[in-house]
Order: sequence, then C-alpha cells, then structure tokens
Amino acid sequence: MSKVARIPGYQSKNPKQNRGIIGDREIRYKCSLQNVILDVLRGRPGWTEVPGQNSQVPAAQQGTRPSNQQTSGQTQTGNQSRPSDGDWDFYWCDREWLHQNYDTMFLHEHQKILHFRNHYELTRKNLMVKNLKRLRKQTEREQGKTEAQSFDFYPTTYELPSEYHIFVEEFKKNLGIIWIMKPAAKSQGKGIFLFRRLKDITDWKKGEYQPLSDQTRDVPETYVVQRYIENPLLIGGRKFDVRVYVLVCSYNPLKVWLYRGGFARFSNTRFSLDSIEDTYVHLTNVAVQKNAPDYDPEKGCKWSTQQLRKYLAAKHGVDKVQKMFKSIDNIIIKSLQSVQKIIINDKHCFEMYGYDVLLDSDLKPWLIEINASPSLTASGKEDYDLKFGLLSDLLNVLDLENRLTGKEKRIGGWDLLWDDGPIVADDNMDCTPANGSAVSTPNSYLGCFNDRKKQLREIYLTAQSVKKS
Ligand code: ADP
Repeated sequence: MSKVARIPGYQSKNPKQNRGIIGDREIRYKCSLQNVILDVLRGRPGWTEVPGQNSQVPAAQQGTRPSNQQTSGQTQTGNQSRPSDGDWDFYWCDREWLHQNYDTMFLHEHQKILHFRNHYELTRKNLMVKNLKRLRKQTEREQGKTEAQSFDFYPTTYELPSEYHIFVEEFKKNLGIIWIMKPAAKSQGKGIFLFRRLKDITDWKKGEYQPLSDQTRDVPETYVVQRYIENPLLIGGRKFDVRVYVLVCSYNPLKVWLYRGGFARFSNTRFSLDSIEDTYVHLTNVAVQKNAPDYDPEKGCKWSTQQLRKYLAAKHGVDKVQKMFKSIDNIIIKSLQSVQKIIINDKHCFEMYGYDVLLDSDLKPWLIEINASPSLTASGKEDYDLKFGLLSDLLNVLDLENRLTGKEKRIGGWDLLWDDGPIVADDNMDCTPANGSAVSTPNSYLGCFNDRKKQLREIYLTAQSVKKS
C-alpha cells in the first residue's frame, strides 16, 4: 500500500478520505500512456497503479512520483487491461483498446474509463462536419434561418470522394479561392495540402497523394476538402490556432466542462498566400512546426490562452474579445449537441476533447478539428504545468474519492459550461468583463485567471462542511 499523502488543497480529518478511497480500499488505476497523465496518476495520493501483465511499473514503485517528471512521447506503457478485468477503478486507455474491448466488456458500478465507444462521430473530420450539417438543417427546419446561422462556424467542407461532384460545382462558383485537403482520419498535419486549381485534385484522384502503404486499398482514402481561411488573425505576422480543452462527463443529459487554460500554437514562418505549398506557413501543428529549419525549441511556438486573451483585449477591446470567446462557447455546445443522440452514452465513460479553433482577422472563431486524444506530452516547463493542472483537475471533477457535493460549478481550472442547459455564473468574475455586462453571464472563463489551488482548497472545505451538516 502506498504512503498516505495529503491531497493538495484538501485534508480531511478522516484519514481514509485523504488516501482516495472507494468504499474501504484504495483507488486502482491503469494507464496506457507514458506522459503527463501517468505522472498525475502516480502523484495522486492514495491512488495505486495496477501491475498489469505487461506493466513497466514494479509493484514497489506504485503510487510514487517518478524523479524524471518530463516524460516524452505519447507512448504506451504496455499496461493493457483485458475486458474481464475488474481490478481497476480508473482506466486511461487508448482508443484502439476501447474499440477492441468495449463491446465485450462488463463494467462495474464504480469503474471509470476514458472515451465513449463511438467518439469518432465527432473526432473524424468528415463525420464531424456531417453531424454538424445535419443539426444545422434540423435547426433551420424547426427554428428558422436566423437560428441556423449560429452554425456558421465551420468552413465549407465536402467529403471526398463521395461528394466530389458537389464540390466541383462549388469550386466553379468560387474560382480563385484556396482549398485545403485533409485525410479524414489522420492527425498532426499528415497528408494535408492546399490548392487553387482543380487540376491539383485531379492528380490526387489518380492516387498521386496516396501514401504507399495504402496502394493496396481497393477504396480510396477518405479526405475532406475544406475552404481555406485566407484571412487568419496574425500576431507578429504569424498565423496561430487555439487549443481548447473540453470535458464531457455525460451525453445524456449533456454535461460539459471548459478548462480555463490552453494555448495558442503559432507557425514559425510569417504568413503569406504566395507560397501555398509551404506547410510551415499554413499548418500550425507543433508536429509540423518543430521540423521547420529555423525552429527554436527554446522559444517554441506557444502562448498561453491567458496571454492571448490579454493581448487581444488590449489590441481589439474587451467587448470584441468577450464576444469572440462567447462564440467559442457556442462552437463547443453546438458541436456536442450535433452528436448527442448518436454517441453511445455510458455513465462509466468520459472524454477530454482538444478543440482546435482558428481566429480570422475579424476575430471570428472557426472550428477546425476536435481531438479525442489531445497530446499530453509536454513541450516545456510551462506546458508541463498546464497539462499537470488540467489533468489533476479532471480527476478532481470525476471525484472518484467522493469528496465533493456534485453541485460545484467550478472545480480547479474547470468551469461547468452546460448541464442539460446553459450554466449561469454566480459572479461576474473580473476577467475581461464587457461594459455594462449582461444580466446573466455564462459560466465560461476561457483564458481567465486560473487560481486553481486556492479554489480547490475552498471548495473542499465547503464540501466538507456541507457533508457534515
Ligand atoms: P490534423 O488533424 O492533421 O492536425 P487539422 O484539421 O487540425 O489536421 O489541420 C492542421 C492545421 O492546418 C491546423 O492546425 C490549421 O493550422 C491548418 N488548417 C486546417 N484547416 C484549415 C482551414 N480550413 N483554414 C485555414 N487553416 C487550416
């Protein structure tokens, strides 16, 4: 049994509660990844790593924090569980494992597992757009055109090859604009290219752009072709996108938390439309940028969302920036609602999404992609701290230790954005409030001050006294 340590921000008089207890025993976890999440789990007082058949962790080390905090690579620990295993309470598994095992798995009442069974409905580029288009149509039918305009946050997109002919019609209506081609199921900028002429896509159709390994396929790889945002907001002449973390604990009813922190990822090279073949200019993925010839790993290409929000408020005014962040809330809720009836809801499952949002020069946010496995590998100290806080607070929200009341609207850096309806803030916290601010302010603080440790101390104390009384 691991040493009893104090849970940051909380110490109960009941020693069992300090250790993270389910019933009369400790919380047992499994983890498929070897990066910040594993550090968080190992550092969590009273949580014990289950030594799997292939576990790299000797039982003696369980529950202790590794001396080298900076783990690298989204690699697997090999600590894979079998469906029949009932020996864990919490499993940070990878998507492949869940796909292979979910249908034959029996989960006990207390067990929690990462990912919903068919998360790809939202996280595959073609399916995300298909679901958004469907809800948009339904909204237009039932509530009219004006309401349907609230879905104007994803660029015009078609699936290829299935919608090739519709795309060509659209292409001919808008000659001269730039389009971006993306493999539907790949990530990290792989296989993406920009084009202006239909001829370029004809070459692709012939198979020129298909990876060698796919040449034996009898069906062509699915792509999406999407209108390229030609007027991105630039800072210091560079394009960037914003990573936003969203936690869904339930799809029915829909319960959504939004993390205050995040970051903007900048491209390394000044933006220009002259060289559309230059991925270092147009793709902001870290995986792409770190290969740029003049990439400086010390400087990196990231700003915290707090830094971004402050900069934008100073440059464009508080009201405009507030409106922009509100539009991001709309993107989050509408996209989740578009799959709400499709996702196989399961009280054992949760999902932490990484939204990629691009801002244009009018400060309009565009939804580019939603990831079900956002990178949890840290690129530096600041990034490590962000991810460590994010994941620790995720565990605080899930509250396997049962230390909270379940009525909290904020837990550490996570704010409850939606619980079967919009959540209204208790206070208009001094983030960057709009002048004469709204009567009911949404409980949304993306890019705002994150005093998470202080807040945790307070809510744990409150919960303790509520539970006593
Ligand atoms: P991946 O899953 O491979 O990361 P994304 O859809 O996230 O693919 O695209 C990679 C990058 O390309 C984004 O981070 C963004 O910088 C750029 N990008 C993607 N789609 C667009 C678009 N429609 N307009 C402008 N830039 C885009």
